[in-house]
Amino acid sequence: MYIMVVNCGSSSLKFQLMAVPGEEVIAKGTVDRIGQNVAAQFLYATHGRQHAPAPMVAHDHTEAVKYVIEALTSGATAVLRAKEDIAAFGHRVVHGGEQFTASVIIDEAVLRCIEECCALAPLHNPANLAGIRACQQALPTAPNIAVFDTAFHQTMPPQAYHYALPYEYYQRDRIRRYGFHGTSHRYVTETYAALMQQPASAVNVVTCHLGNGSSLTAVLQGHSVDTSMGFTPLQGVIMGTRCGDIDPAVVFHLMTNDGLTAETINAVLNKKSGLLGFTGISSDMRDVQTAAAQGNQRALLALDMWAYGIAKYIAAYVAILPRTDAVIFTAGIGENSSEARALICAKAPGLGLALDADANASRGAARKISAPGSRIPVWVIPTNEELEIARETYELIA
Ligand code: ADP
Repeated sequence: MYIMVVNCGSSSLKFQLMAVPGEEVIAKGTVDRIGQNVAAQFLYATHGRQHAPAPMVAHDHTEAVKYVIEALTSGATAVLRAKEDIAAFGHRVVHGGEQFTASVIIDEAVLRCIEECCALAPLHNPANLAGIRACQQALPTAPNIAVFDTAFHQTMPPQAYHYALPYEYYQRDRIRRYGFHGTSHRYVTETYAALMQQPASAVNVVTCHLGNGSSLTAVLQGHSVDTSMGFTPLQGVIMGTRCGDIDPAVVFHLMTNDGLTAETINAVLNKKSGLLGFTGISSDMRDVQTAAAQGNQRALLALDMWAYGIAKYIAAYVAILPRTDAVIFTAGIGENSSEARALICAKAPGLGLALDADANASRGAARKISAPGSRIPVWVIPTNEELEIARETYELIA
């Protein structure tokens, strides 16, 4: 049986076709520049072999899905006999608000709820909806499943998710901490539990998803009890282009002193801050590390600020958990940068996180990287959000 995992952005569609329950990736790829009236870039691989079909214009997500399905079912690159071989679509949906605490089979009522959540994620949910509708149109008989970035965090207690604003802002506008990257935090938690041969409900961990966007989560008995991102993915640690935690009064200062509009400030905080804004070099951790190695003082300081902020979140989460079985690093930076991991651990001397230099420098699969004397074991567990979406989709249709 095959499941198509779909992740739609406003102008892009990423997909993975996975065989289940074997979990083999049959095909994966991306269609970019959807709806831009230019030739879309469609790149994909089947069984690991790359293909770049002739450029075509994808006016909308429906056309993009059609191109993908055509490529997978016809010609020399076909991996399916017919589109009906796709048993279900699993969609990444960014915001499920307070309605969705787990993945769901999409029906009209679910679609309406996802639509209502567009106010909370105006850049993401409309694109996710477009992807769902495109798949419904392409293959009306196949179920569509929504897997929400926010769902894993719906177990946070009120003391963790409320902001101390007038209470009616929560009642009227649902302003609260939601948290994101839930699929990844859940995946690494469950992978860690499986490696420990324990049920997820038996493990307490601090998961650190460090990529372009970054968030940390305190996991108690397999459930998220706090997370660093908030009402939006802007809150928390320093990211590639996002500032993370700042005093909200900075916004009013920029408005009244510099005459910046809300729209400009929104763009600055989300797209022009973080590593990029502070260094003026790049949002990419590798570029910042290279500049730091060449002696660039601002890049060096940015790395210190980045790691210090993350260390503080780890310390806070270790403090609120009765016991921490492991600190887990994942995503682009968390999985690939031994320097970044070492710097973070060094910024929290009170936690006694001691790394084994060889294990930290090694690459590849899930592994423990702490030294035997470390007060808390430290792990690297590669994330796989597509696999988690496929698993949750399969569970709902099997
Ligand atoms: P996204 O949030 O877009 O999914 P990723 O999880 O792919 O992002 O992470 C991207 C980040 O990972 C970039 O900042 C990139 O520089 C960083 N990264 C990837 N490989 C390395 C590496 N070997 N060393 C340091 N940083 C890396």
